[in-house]
Amino acid sequence: MTFHDNERYDAIISGAGPVGLFLACELALAQCSVLVLEKTEDPTSPLKRVPFGIRGLSAPTIDALHRRGLLRELQIHKRIQSPHQHAGEGPRRQAGHFAGIPFHDGDIDATRWTYRLPGSTPTHLLSEMEELESVLARRAETLGVRLLRGAAVTGFHQTGDGVAIHSHERTFEGQWLVGCDGSRSAVRKLGGFEFAGTEPEFTGYTAKVDIADPKKLKPGRNMTPHGMYLQSQPGHLAIQDFDGGAFHATGMPITREHVQDVLRRISGTDVTIDALHIATTWTDRARQATAYRKGRVFLAGDAAHIHSPLGGQGLNLGLGDAMNLGWKLAATIKKHVPHGLLDSYHAERHPIGERILDWSRAQVAIMRPEPHARALNGIVRDLMKTRDGATYFAGKVWGLSTRYPLGDGHPLLGSSVPEFEFEDGRTISDLMHDGRGVLLDFAGTASLERFAGEYGGHIVYVTGHPKESFELSALLIRPDGFIAWASEGPPDIGDLHNAAARWFTRGASS
Ligand SMILES: Cc1cc2nc3c(=O)[nH]c(=O)nc-3n(C[C@H](O)[C@H](O)[C@H](O)COP(=O)(O)OP(=O)(O)OC[C@H]3O[C@@H](n4cnc5c(N)ncnc54)[C@H](O)[C@@H]3O)c2cc1C
Repeated sequence: MTFHDNERYDAIISGAGPVGLFLACELALAQCSVLVLEKTEDPTSPLKRVPFGIRGLSAPTIDALHRRGLLRELQIHKRIQSPHQHAGEGPRRQAGHFAGIPFHDGDIDATRWTYRLPGSTPTHLLSEMEELESVLARRAETLGVRLLRGAAVTGFHQTGDGVAIHSHERTFEGQWLVGCDGSRSAVRKLGGFEFAGTEPEFTGYTAKVDIADPKKLKPGRNMTPHGMYLQSQPGHLAIQDFDGGAFHATGMPITREHVQDVLRRISGTDVTIDALHIATTWTDRARQATAYRKGRVFLAGDAAHIHSPLGGQGLNLGLGDAMNLGWKLAATIKKHVPHGLLDSYHAERHPIGERILDWSRAQVAIMRPEPHARALNGIVRDLMKTRDGATYFAGKVWGLSTRYPLGDGHPLLGSSVPEFEFEDGRTISDLMHDGRGVLLDFAGTASLERFAGEYGGHIVYVTGHPKESFELSALLIRPDGFIAWASEGPPDIGDLHNAAARWFTRGASS
């Protein structure tokens, strides 16, 4: 495909991280022209590879990837094992953690998630950043996205009907700009978005080292009077130093001597590090843009919210933003947009971001190296050993409680659609690869087929008998897989019309 710089794009995305790439795919799937500007030349990095680049994917992310046919392309999770899984196998297999306190598969009561079908996609998986990004980049390019590497966004200004975006001396024009350019987002800063929140309590270190006398360190995760250290595999260190985030803020190089000093102080040993192979630092700074949109500019992913990586939520949160924004922005670009659709991006995603920031703050609060936090930590640990406790934490960490407030009515309203499987073996995800809404009719009602027809190609009508229907007769599913309307008895077409009018417009798709 040939591209020209003076082409005007429907959307320009700053940042080819997982969130920017996934959003680009969503927009291109709906036939929008998309340019992605990425600062770095080289998409590969040891920090994106196993072990440092391991990321935990939660249920909404897994479902989103599956609904676009991308899950099967991720292979790495079949090879990698969580560092936490040393804790056991089978029912005692660690299934996640809160503040480093593990919960285990065997303690979780999965029957509480009434609408989660057995045999559907997993609730959690491990993935690798580099593989995820390369799968998404390949897909974006297949769909016709222009991806320019070594092209940082350095400035932009909004015009009446678009945005002029500068990358050093080059200028690109788009109808919309989305900043997916990570925690230090240029779009957020240049656009003057307020970024409110709390300052860090610690500097976190992830490092690969050679240790002369590893037996001086205790196995597993160790809370000490000065912080925390964990040796997940020989020489793979994670350290939390409650220095108020001071070292991370200096931006100084991370030397062998420095990591050794910190490790000695935290572990209370005189352990010796012979060599430092790779190291990175992070903090628990927790901030969120107070608005995810300013005119024709949006933020998504780490550009919109940052928090500590404890419990592995940031990537999942960002991909959820992209899945939510993609179809709404595409509908706006294609001019088949109900009033208020774009505003629902902030309305739905900001509260979820807020909850995740609080989830990460709560973890920090019980990890502080001081007696009150220790006491609270012990109580949480006890609760997590109970069935109710383990189930509660699993539901949160795996994202099973994610729900948009789409009104009262059926309990599934606003939830992710269960993975219905039809008698011919197809599942609902198989029917969502093209990113359109679905009217799912389990009863073969002629009026529903006519109704879907009025929405042109925006809503696909599907009828069939699933193996499990939860006594539902029909459902309206948004392109992101969330349920906009659900009926158990004969469908109320007036009710369906009201629900559909919030998300779709009638008429042929363009
Ligand atoms: C140690 C650690 C462990 C983690 N573990 C997990 C986990 O298990 N699960 C989880 O969900 N999350 C985890 N996270 C968080 C997760 O990695 C991030 O939330 C996720 O990478 C955010 O994706 P993104 O696309 O928004 O931003 P990024 O991945 O940061 O991508 C942003 C992209 O924008 C580019 N860019 C920057 N500036 C510009 C510019 N001016 N112009 C153009 N491009 C630009 C960057 O080069 C980059 O490619 C972890 C994070 C850390 C540090």
